Amino acid sequence: MNYIVLDLEWNQCPYGKEYGKKALPFEIIEIGAVKLDEDRNIVDEFRRVIKPKEYKKIHYKTQKVIHLTQEQLKNGVGFPQAMEEFFAWCSPQDTFCTWGISDLTELQRNMDYFKVKNVFPKPLYYYDIQELMAVDLDERDKRRTLESAVEYYRIKKEREFHGAAGDAFYTAKILQALHWEKVRIYYTFNCYRNPQNKEEEITAIYPDGSKFVSREFATKERAMKDRSLLTMQCFQCGRSLRNKVKWFASQQKVYESIYKCPKHGLMLCKIRFKSLPNGNYFAVRSIETADDAAVQAVLDRKEQIKIRRRRRNGQLRRRSVGKRV
Ligand SMILES: [Zn+2]
Repeated sequence: MNYIVLDLEWNQCPYGKEYGKKALPFEIIEIGAVKLDEDRNIVDEFRRVIKPKEYKKIHYKTQKVIHLTQEQLKNGVGFPQAMEEFFAWCSPQDTFCTWGISDLTELQRNMDYFKVKNVFPKPLYYYDIQELMAVDLDERDKRRTLESAVEYYRIKKEREFHGAAGDAFYTAKILQALHWEKVRIYYTFNCYRNPQNKEEEITAIYPDGSKFVSREFATKERAMKDRSLLTMQCFQCGRSLRNKVKWFASQQKVYESIYKCPKHGLMLCKIRFKSLPNGNYFAVRSIETADDAAVQAVLDRKEQIKIRRRRRNGQLRRRSVGKRV
């Protein structure tokens, strides 16, 4: 098994999103990757510049950061050929690592668009090195830029930033700098191909919480009545959790609640809905231990929403009364 650190550069429609292809908001123009062995030694590198097919002019935002010239792009290879060479160089079964969460999604979207067979395993587990760094430094909600991470670890700046090859190289260097035994349990999964049925639903258990990805539902309301989504177990002991604060919508696609394990105490539970192109939804549910402040924050949010709703209903009532008079 190898680790494959992957970084992509992409372009978008130069005339604005509304003129672009809906199925291809971002067209990949460069693939950079670094191969590390099981002991995280760098053993090989891969780079391909891709000749764009849909967006041939570089968007001004892309132009600002990227180092590729129109001439280099013109001499690039087609996306299907680049992918063929990529999977001759590495295996889809290798452990993929990226900086942030977008690259594997955009890669698969481009594969679909250009009719390259998706050979990745399902579910596609991977490491988000940006997240692992936050875990390693005990700053869970913080996300550093690649350049500031390179500076933090005092990695020599011997390559250019904002090129796929350079960024993949730096991400590999950061991967080497992490306390691997501490962070390796924090794998994540890419949901570009979301679970289609009960068998494909995903459960992941971490030292400080758990995650569950559901199958598709026609509506959020239907999902919020689903027993398998709302039946929860403690990630530490497996006991059934008991509901303490009823689920409420804290945002349009986010629901929150508090449950309790008889042994491990209060847990924060959150469901985030993701909408799909077919109009359906799937849910990502997370459970984590809660301290008093976190519990209070949930209760405050719930109260705020209740007050807002009451105020809104009151206004409606006043308005209809006014009409009658
Ligand atoms: Zn428990």
